Amino acid sequence: MTESEIREKSETWHFDLYKRYPLVLERAEGARVWDRDGREYIDALAGIAVNNVGHCHPKVVQAVQRQVSRLIHVSNLYYTEAQSSLAEKLASVSGFEKVFFCNSGAEANEAAIKLARKYADKTGRTGPIVSLKNCFHGRTIGTIALGKEKYRKGFGPMPTGIEHTPANDIAALEKVMSDQTAALILEPIQGEGGVVPLDQAYLERARELCDTHGALLIYDEVQCGVGRTGKMFAWQHFGVKPDVLTAAKGLGGGVPIGAVMATKEAAGVLGYGEHGTTFGGNSLASAAAGAVLDAIEEEKLCEAAREKGEWLMQTLRERTKGWSCVKGVRGVGLMVGMELTFKGAPVVEKMLEKGVLSNCASDVVMRLLPPLVITQEQLERVVDVLLESVRECDPDS
Ligand code: PLP
Repeated sequence: MTESEIREKSETWHFDLYKRYPLVLERAEGARVWDRDGREYIDALAGIAVNNVGHCHPKVVQAVQRQVSRLIHVSNLYYTEAQSSLAEKLASVSGFEKVFFCNSGAEANEAAIKLARKYADKTGRTGPIVSLKNCFHGRTIGTIALGKEKYRKGFGPMPTGIEHTPANDIAALEKVMSDQTAALILEPIQGEGGVVPLDQAYLERARELCDTHGALLIYDEVQCGVGRTGKMFAWQHFGVKPDVLTAAKGLGGGVPIGAVMATKEAAGVLGYGEHGTTFGGNSLASAAAGAVLDAIEEEKLCEAAREKGEWLMQTLRERTKGWSCVKGVRGVGLMVGMELTFKGAPVVEKMLEKGVLSNCASDVVMRLLPPLVITQEQLERVVDVLLESVRECDPDS
């Protein structure tokens, strides 16, 4: 099939939901991807924080190949070695006692919402689940009800029992929380919201308030988890532990898998038959995720994320000193945002022309989420291309 045939077929047959770049990708390795013509790109987006260990990591490829010829799927009516090993491993690296597997980030958050509702039911609470304005938790009805107004438009009526409060505003949080609150859900580092790390003091107060009122604290680490911030999970970075934590994206190295981790007490509110999924944690996805976690540990990718992230943020700050079009550079580990004074979409296109895949969040924040295995040389190229492109697109230059 020619490139234009591929694009045409997709446009004819697929729902018109994604505004795709005119690029047909065919092969990938580490932090590099190639299109149909063999043109090479550096991937500074990693499939939106998915390919944390790099594209087609040899350990993931080997684990998937071995598993695919033995057992792909048998449902959750039976035990499998791949899933039980992953449950043990994920609980251990995340610091939790219980794990539930599903297939995506939104699904992990849906499970967390159900858990919070059941917890409220069991403890006689009638209050809401509190979530933060500017957050993003997925595209299902339940998760858009938690999230930004923008994603809810036209999809009403929304589920009730959700209250929104501004991020990093302790006074507002104190006001909205009560002894009736079921749970507080937040991304410790907001991703789609424009790479916004929550303040240490805010997270500490959130934990205190949840303890005082007996509410559950839920972290959505779908984007910031699995090594990206320089720790396996971001809560370990801040040292403020939630009761429930959700993950997906980077966990399967590209194979779809989501997970909810919880304390034994929180997980215990859901009993037999009260939640479940057909595919969740099947052998293939579990084998991939097990290999991802092994690769992160064995290849010290958390340390790599910390060092490369520091270099990246420092370099961007130094090289844009005095640029009026750059409002700031922020992030943790290799989850980095550079806020512009103008819309970043043309910068993304310019970068693509120059051979770098990137993204813009919240209209004006150039978001860099490269694979943690990106080399120094590749990272230098990403910086050069980003800054060149910003210069070329700046309407005031
Ligand atoms: N939560 C966060 C923080 C995310 O960034 C995303 C996706 O971008 C989701 C949830 C939804 O994940 P998925 O697209 O796998 O449903």
